[in-house]
Amino acid sequence: MSFESLNLNEVLTRALSAAGYTEPTEVQASAIPAALAGKDLMVSSRTGSGKTASFVLPALTRILAQREQAAAERKASGPANAQGNGPRVTPFSNATRGPRILVLAPTRELAMQVSKAASDYGRFVPGLRVATVVGGVPYGAQLAALRGPLDILIATPGRLIDHLGSGKCQLGNVEMLVLDEADRMLDMGFIDDIRLIVDATPKQRQTAMYSATFSGTVGRLAADLLRDPLRIEASSQTEGHADIEQRLHWADDFEHKNALLDHILTERSMEQAVVFTSTQRDADWLADRLHDMGHSVASLHGGMPQGRRTRVLQGLRSKHLRVLVATDVAARGIDVPSISHVINYGLPMKEEDYVHRIGRTGRAGRAGLAVTLAERRDSGMMHRIQRYTTQRIPVATIEGLEPKRSEPPKPFDRPVRPAGKSFGPRPAGKAFKPAGKTFSKAGPRPAR
Ligand code: AMP
Repeated sequence: MSFESLNLNEVLTRALSAAGYTEPTEVQASAIPAALAGKDLMVSSRTGSGKTASFVLPALTRILAQREQAAAERKASGPANAQGNGPRVTPFSNATRGPRILVLAPTRELAMQVSKAASDYGRFVPGLRVATVVGGVPYGAQLAALRGPLDILIATPGRLIDHLGSGKCQLGNVEMLVLDEADRMLDMGFIDDIRLIVDATPKQRQTAMYSATFSGTVGRLAADLLRDPLRIEASSQTEGHADIEQRLHWADDFEHKNALLDHILTERSMEQAVVFTSTQRDADWLADRLHDMGHSVASLHGGMPQGRRTRVLQGLRSKHLRVLVATDVAARGIDVPSISHVINYGLPMKEEDYVHRIGRTGRAGRAGLAVTLAERRDSGMMHRIQRYTTQRIPVATIEGLEPKRSEPPKPFDRPVRPAGKSFGPRPAGKAFKPAGKTFSKAGPRPAR
């Protein structure tokens, strides 16, 4: 399928060609025609699948159509109006205050990423106005952006609620609402904020929800917000990760884990790495340790001021940084094609975060390596991850750094039972357990 067959405006296909895209990805091919036809959407699509363009392109199409209509109306109302006499219809009138498109995203980083995509794909849309409203940055510039005419607003729920509460933002002209990574927003406790925001938008809007899972609360939210939605499952959570090689190294203890990390970071194939830790404190500590060892490294986590986080990401993009030590929330949405390695130094709290983590590499068709350094106490989580992804992660060793202890007793010897059709992770209590055994026998649960 080609972008031409999606009947996108030439203004958009030109931007796609400029970005080097030749054909739509799977999720784009499914979602774009339905979105252009005005359908509500319920989309599960892995990170890195091109999902952002699958809603940004239909959003931009709406804006272009509105621009064309306004131009036609101006023309029809005659030359007097064109010369500035008579009642002028301008985008600055109150009737067009507030965005036509609203995108909600769970984190600042993801919101910035969507914002960049909107500006990139909309680079030839005349006078496109995109604003981003996220927490952790001063209010002034956001208020100025909200006061003026606006096409697309991309926001994290908390800060948007602040602006709604103070009457500085109005959503009465929203034609299309997108909830990106809806499951994450609910995990982060945004359910009430989301409902308040949705209530401030017109009922007849078009709504698209993107989420890894549509079970439980997120499914109920979808049922409330969407009208006769089209369900799109672009690919399983990991099918699309063909470009990412995964490896598991068993570490005997903390020192061994550090030795493995040090070795991997000095591999010649390593261009740039994101090293994940479980806590913000670990991220700072490990970044300090790697800095002392001579690496160009920085940490990135939610406890840092936004200005510093932005500078760190710029450093990564400009390749001044070779290693980023990050926590899950802060690293979501990072899209830097030169990240060759993702290293799980501390395991994620949730199995779906593993999928998000490894999706930081193997971007834009490049190959990537995702290495997990696990101690025996991590064996329960390792099994849950493999069950969730329905993939076995090959165990690897490094010459001279082989573990002295034998591998943990294996749930791993048993087939990894597929998680069924639903994308959703199982609640921890219902995790797959070999008959008659519990995970506590395979090793204690990690203490975090
Ligand atoms: P996303 O899943 O939206 O975060 O996109 C992942 C990456 O794929 C980004 O680097 C996009 O620039 C890139 N991308 C999106 N659509 C296409 C496409 N049709 N062809 C090639 N790359 C794409």
